[in-house]
Amino acid sequence: AFLGQIERHDGRVHAFLHVDAEGALAQAAAVDARLDAGEVLGPLAGVPLAMKDLFTQEGVPTTAGSRILEGWRPPYSATVTRRLLDAGIVILGKTNMDEFAMGSSTENSAYGPTHNPWDLERIPGGSGGGSSASLAAFEAPLAIGTDTGGSIRQPASVTGTVGVKPTYGGTSRYGVIAMASSLDQPGPCARTVLDAALLHEAMAGYDPMDSTSIDAPVPPVVEAARSGDVSGLRIGVVKELGGEGYAPGVEQRFTEALDLLRDAGAEIVEVSCPHFDYALGAYYLIMPSEVSSNLARYDGMRYGLRVGDDGSRSTEEVMALTRDAGFGEEVKRRVIIGTYALSSGYYDAYYGSAQKVRRLITDDFDAAFAQVDVLVSPSTPTTAFKLGERMDDPLAMYKSDLCTIPSNMAGNAAGSFPVGLAPEDGLPVGLQVMAPPLADDRVYRVGAALE
Ligand code: GLN
Repeated sequence: AFLGQIERHDGRVHAFLHVDAEGALAQAAAVDARLDAGEVLGPLAGVPLAMKDLFTQEGVPTTAGSRILEGWRPPYSATVTRRLLDAGIVILGKTNMDEFAMGSSTENSAYGPTHNPWDLERIPGGSGGGSSASLAAFEAPLAIGTDTGGSIRQPASVTGTVGVKPTYGGTSRYGVIAMASSLDQPGPCARTVLDAALLHEAMAGYDPMDSTSIDAPVPPVVEAARSGDVSGLRIGVVKELGGEGYAPGVEQRFTEALDLLRDAGAEIVEVSCPHFDYALGAYYLIMPSEVSSNLARYDGMRYGLRVGDDGSRSTEEVMALTRDAGFGEEVKRRVIIGTYALSSGYYDAYYGSAQKVRRLITDDFDAAFAQVDVLVSPSTPTTAFKLGERMDDPLAMYKSDLCTIPSNMAGNAAGSFPVGLAPEDGLPVGLQVMAPPLADDRVYRVGAALE
């Protein structure tokens, strides 16, 4: 049924880069065989899923939205991919994304943008716009993404779906193509809070193959999603997250959601996190620094594209030609910024200062979580903007992640949940819930109360 839905609608939405119909049907048949053999499988056995094209899946094309990986078929699968298949989840294919997860609109994909199913002229968010759009278009009931600065939560917000960034180290990064390793975190996307929690449980947990994986039990997210009980919960509204202000409809739906939580027995207080004002600036130094290092591996020798290798050129020339042809503008911009920020003489001034700011942001979270159980804000300052609107203005694009970036900097858990449509444009608004590390269940508890 979902393959049929993709066939009918994806020509207009373009959520998928690769539909693996044959693989999906074979996986579904394998699930039937396991059940027939008496194996007891979890609640998601047989449920289809759309996978962001940043996760490796053995033998299935994986591009990270980039020309430089066009045609590459990974020889192995990510831990998350293996866990999904073990749980009997059926992988429908790979979804569109900003190149190497750099962007907030999916317009930086080398394969053309994804369209928001709510209004095809608008962006589906990014970088995981394909995953969220596939849910909003009912092309898949489940999806997964990765969140480095908001790439699960912001697309969820603008497509009226649920998206959660687990605690850093809660889900394995092994086999997930790296953007900025100290910030990247795989997580679940779904249309309901319980679906997201079930998927969270299926994909999370300790992995010895990831050196930053946390060796602790998965927080009780499913129980929290089933409960939704927020009575007595202390909820902090972060004063500093507004930046230049929220769109009126975003502000309105956010305030109404707070009223709903208050009526459900939660206590709402205002909390100050003064260093959040510097989160965006620090992120745009730390992230590109890690990007410049991680993307050094695309040298035309090891994977995918190779340009100009006709015997007349040096290795360096082939590398330069390959990277020039294979990387898009935004990727080049970040590699250049990161290389500069890490260069000797500038390292302390840029990368070093940004790391200090990162510590102060984490301290702000610690102080806030000493007073409240969770923090909330709108997930993103505006609803889905028009395709093309921010393409010539990187700073305007970067501001889409004003509210989501602090949680990546500190490594805590955070999710976005739909709270209705903005009256001025009829587009979805999302509310962000942030919880301390390993308290991911609180994110789902509040999400369930809002549903
Ligand atoms: N939009 C942010 C960026 O461009 C976040 C990306 C992400 O979370 N992968 O860096």
